[in-house]
Amino acid sequence: MEGVLGLKCVLCGAEYGLRETSQAFRYVCDGHGDAGILDVVYDYPHIRRILTAEALRANPDRSIWRYLPLLPVDQQGVARLRASGGHRPLWNVGWTPLYRAPRLAAMLGLSEVYVKDEGRNPSASFKDRASAVGLVKALEWGATVVAAASTGNAASSLATLAAGWPVQTVIFVPANAPHAKIAQLLIHGATVLPVQGTYDQAFDLCLEACRAWGWYSRNTGYNPYLSEGKKTAVLELGEQLDWHMPDCILVSVGDGCIIGGLGKGLCDLRALGLIDRLPRLIGVQAAGSAALYHAWRRGDEQIEAVHAHTLADSIAVDLPRDGIKALRAVRETGGAFVVVSDDEILAAMHTLACEAGVFGEPAGVASYAGLVKARELGWVEKGERVVLLVTGSGLKDVPSALKAVPLPSPIVPTLEAVTGRLQGGTKTACLSS
Ligand SMILES: *Cc1c(COP(=O)(O)O)cnc(C)c1O
Ligand SMILES: [Zn+2]
Repeated sequence: MEGVLGLKCVLCGAEYGLRETSQAFRYVCDGHGDAGILDVVYDYPHIRRILTAEALRANPDRSIWRYLPLLPVDQQGVARLRASGGHRPLWNVGWTPLYRAPRLAAMLGLSEVYVKDEGRNPSASFKDRASAVGLVKALEWGATVVAAASTGNAASSLATLAAGWPVQTVIFVPANAPHAKIAQLLIHGATVLPVQGTYDQAFDLCLEACRAWGWYSRNTGYNPYLSEGKKTAVLELGEQLDWHMPDCILVSVGDGCIIGGLGKGLCDLRALGLIDRLPRLIGVQAAGSAALYHAWRRGDEQIEAVHAHTLADSIAVDLPRDGIKALRAVRETGGAFVVVSDDEILAAMHTLACEAGVFGEPAGVASYAGLVKARELGWVEKGERVVLLVTGSGLKDVPSALKAVPLPSPIVPTLEAVTGRLQGGTKTACLSS
């Protein structure tokens, strides 16, 4: 960890070394308890000499691990792990495709719209970026049990990446999480505890269990290493756009770890001299789960819990656990928060799939719904270059997709029936709404 100086509390600035004796694993600030989220502090002058644009161009590794000097892990340890088990999904996280969507750009009066498809990660969501770093830390520390509370994807990602490594995963999920995500957990051999309650209740229970039994905690907005994994998406974006960053980046927000991580990655790139201007980060929340939007509107860092209700299960959060980092990322980049309704999310799912070829789950496509809203509100202006992060695959939540597009009724197997059915045209229109 040559490039890491230590950990710093986001609330009081107290600094901690990486090796602590009082506590096997350090997660949060002593003075602030669970709210005292730590931020990893890097030695940029040192990293700047190693992680140059040229060095990156010459690096054949197409995964998040190409950014090793900017990650809070032991580099020799990672090399040993890689040598030990051959190629595995853990080494294949990231470097997701970035598509151009000229039809969406034309529809919205923008010069460029890019879609980064995070559904192409090993477990089909953005969460793999965080789980990969969390898992390597757990292996580094010799943990035998890794636990997480999750709306679904954080857990399915952890279970996918941990398969075949000498750790047991214990997962707390709300009992009503989509079946595809629960199936991923079970099929990869996780111990699954479906909690009768909300994600927030599952989260508190998981923290309690980790404390009681000394399990390694992969909990968002608590484990400080997860947002470091999440930042890799903007490091990639910089490279994929040859360092011509867009005007703004839109992403859906639940706990706020992704958007906070993106803010961190942008600051890293600026500190390394790879970019000189930060794109605006625009956080998209579901109207029924908008605690950070409300805090941002009030202009303070007091985040008040809501009773989350939205079909976008991955962003259904009462009290965002990584809210401070999220609010600061939006403020420091001159961005904004917008809210979208469930109906707008369903419409976005259909439009994005038809016009850009990317099928996202509800929370994934909320970025597009947010772009439509941000254009209306003037947060995104005509002619701008915009990146949408689609954070999870639509195959994770097929029932929601079938709310966006009704199943056609069957026809009898005759050509007349086909002719009759095609009278209305060959394709359902996406842009009707
Ligand atoms: C977790 C998740 C989000 C939100 O990320 P936060 O870090 O909780 O803000 C968005 N979309 C998908 C698909 C997710 O799984
Ligand atoms: Zn503190």
